Amino acid sequence: MEIYCDNAATTALDPEVIEAILPFLTQNFGNPSSSHWAGRKVNEAIADSRRLIAGILNASDDEIYFTSGATEGINLAISGVVLTYGINHVITSKIEHKAVLQTISQLEKKGDVETSFVKLDERGNVDLDHLENLLRANPRTLICLMHGNNETGNLTDIKAVSKLAQQYNAIFFTDTTQTIGKYRFDLEQIPVDFLVGSAHKFHGPKGTGFIYINKKHRIKAQIFGGGQEKGQRGGTENVIGIIGLAKAMQVAYRDLDANLEKTGKLKQYMLSRLAISGVQDMDYNGESRSLEKSLSNILNVSFPCLPEGSLVKILDASGIAVSGGSACSSQGSSHVISALRCRQNRENVRFSFSKFNTFDEIDHIVQAIAGIYRAGQAAQQNQSRFHFELTN
Ligand code: PLP
Repeated sequence: MEIYCDNAATTALDPEVIEAILPFLTQNFGNPSSSHWAGRKVNEAIADSRRLIAGILNASDDEIYFTSGATEGINLAISGVVLTYGINHVITSKIEHKAVLQTISQLEKKGDVETSFVKLDERGNVDLDHLENLLRANPRTLICLMHGNNETGNLTDIKAVSKLAQQYNAIFFTDTTQTIGKYRFDLEQIPVDFLVGSAHKFHGPKGTGFIYINKKHRIKAQIFGGGQEKGQRGGTENVIGIIGLAKAMQVAYRDLDANLEKTGKLKQYMLSRLAISGVQDMDYNGESRSLEKSLSNILNVSFPCLPEGSLVKILDASGIAVSGGSACSSQGSSHVISALRCRQNRENVRFSFSKFNTFDEIDHIVQAIAGIYRAGQAAQQNQSRFHFELTN
């Protein structure tokens, strides 16, 4: 039996998305820049996709630019702002995705920016007072703070950050890779300058996404070419990716309430099963345990180290795909877990759910975990070889 419970890494394609893409793999092959019928057909489909995404976010069509995914959008937003406006100060946090931290660090190495890290509490929540102090001291600032953390699921109050950004005339980029498709946005109500989305996080294809650029900005491009995407991003469009992205957005927002309910129930169910699993000394990282303060589809559990090896690897050998960073081995904890004041020498495992997971699968995962710890204890008590096999 194979169980996939790593949906914060990527998700399975939705059948409706596959259906939407198919005509663009077969008959609709034109280049959207061509002025003839074949090009026009595809060009119109791209325009429809842009309109659909803009509508969902309460933005306008000309604020949506297609990219190869969130990483490209992040690079474009951060480098674009710094190079266009000469902004030389960035406020970010230690728990951002590497795409954000690495982009900032490259700019820092070139001497383009200085970085301030906003304080986080022990659960990884942004200290808004400290953010305000930093903004007060640095008038020309770019704020890069993520909406939903990809490891702990922690949600940042982007409404509060947006308010502060407006009050101090700062530019606000938020990495929404984990929340687009899982959270309702109204960019009229909560204005931001830039945000990004990536289709493969919500049952669309990999290698395709978008950046929202508030219409008050026109930033320097990073990829030059034939003037596509209004010159913000050259190169023939990834037509299949764009069609798949838009369909995935449409399906995700049409079914948003049902999906949130399903993943929230899966998370609650897993919490309740773990509580009676018999595994001792478990903990939860960040705000992961909370349904209000973290994403409904992410649960990050801190387990005691197993002398027999990595829990994630043993689960994998049993057909269960989850992810994590182990401080029990040479692999070490992730930069996110290290930045939070989490317990040391623990195995941190991220379980991340999607609408395709079932309660049966959660039962299997928890039974497997409990079985692994029991087998570990037995091996220690009897001084015998560790052996674990998942039945059925
Ligand atoms: N930002 C966050 C929070 C993510 O979780 C990811 C993907 O793991 C990325 C950025 C990068 O996204 P992409 O795979 O579309 O480049």
